[in-house]
Amino acid sequence: MTLHWISDRAGTFESSGIRKVFDLAAKLTDPINLSIGQPDFDVPEAARKAMIEAVDRKKGGYTPTQGLAALRESLQKRIDAEYHHADRTVFITSGTSGALALTLLVTVNPGDEVIFFDPYFVMYDALVRMNGGVPVAVSTYPDFCYDIQRLADAVTPKTKAIILNSPANPTGKTATRQEVKAIAELAEKHHILLISDEIYRTFCHQEFTSPAEFNPQTLVMDGFSKSHGMPGWRVGYAHGPKELIEQMLKFQQYTFVCSPHVGQIGALAAMDIDMSAQIAGYRQRRDMLYDALKDDYEIVKPEGAFYMFPKAPWGTATEFVETAIKEYSMLIIPGNVFSRQDTHFRISYSATEETLRRGIEAFKKLAKR
Ligand code: PLP
Repeated sequence: MTLHWISDRAGTFESSGIRKVFDLAAKLTDPINLSIGQPDFDVPEAARKAMIEAVDRKKGGYTPTQGLAALRESLQKRIDAEYHHADRTVFITSGTSGALALTLLVTVNPGDEVIFFDPYFVMYDALVRMNGGVPVAVSTYPDFCYDIQRLADAVTPKTKAIILNSPANPTGKTATRQEVKAIAELAEKHHILLISDEIYRTFCHQEFTSPAEFNPQTLVMDGFSKSHGMPGWRVGYAHGPKELIEQMLKFQQYTFVCSPHVGQIGALAAMDIDMSAQIAGYRQRRDMLYDALKDDYEIVKPEGAFYMFPKAPWGTATEFVETAIKEYSMLIIPGNVFSRQDTHFRISYSATEETLRRGIEAFKKLAKR
């Protein structure tokens, strides 16, 4: 092949650094794997059964682009009850990533600036670049709080959108009600689209607030990947102003087509399942990890998701992570994957208590070198 087959667009971003850690993981025997970005609980039984039955009933065909009516209507009912907005429509996407990809395809023109908070979920930076936009990363170091002044300072006439992710990947930081309100009002005042990635809202150990409560034009994305442990089934959803949703549907028709049929049936069955026991388990593991590491590491205690983002006690984060992998077969992710700086690292505590115990032991030794 010749290089000119590859578009300029493909050269605007790199493959995720998380992949490199996953590749390494495959070569290690019995690693202490604290790099996983998905729940370690199973798809709830009722959802699993519904999906098995759906396969047996040969539900392998397409669904409507906007998703199965039953799932869409159930979600719409729940969303209407929460927000009471006159103009808020939901549709089903291929995971929350699908919703994010469609959102940026529909909204970003070349040269448009899109603001997000640093550290950030890896996909934001890549998706903005992919669409010819300019990513603007607003630092939240050292406390990862959502500073409204820093955000306001980053706004320019070219700002098209702000992405808020709370609870956040990779810090677990969850915006307070006041912070969310301030961000929502700032976006409204400047006529900037506010995109709220709420994929971790179930994993929230303090009050969760959506900016859609204060800014009815907010485009919200969410999904079943994390909340019900079914990331491989690719069921997400987006809700917001109808005109925006119609445009996203047009792009979905020509790209993803629809979210997997069987996955949507599973999601419908999963909707009303109580996941509070699983969430409580994550809270317990957060406390166990935080209490064990807080004296040796600089850590902001996370209020949500299942990540912690401590500061490397020596060297760059990449050096620290390389040593953790080489000497302890411990898999964690260096901060530069999620950030403009390489000072922190991500621990996922979506792991068994036994793995966490092994990890804590290794972290204690690593801190003391
Ligand atoms: N948004 C955030 C903040 C995430 O952490 C992830 C997955 O890790 C996604 C979106 C993508 O989720 P999905 O697997 O549903 O596409």
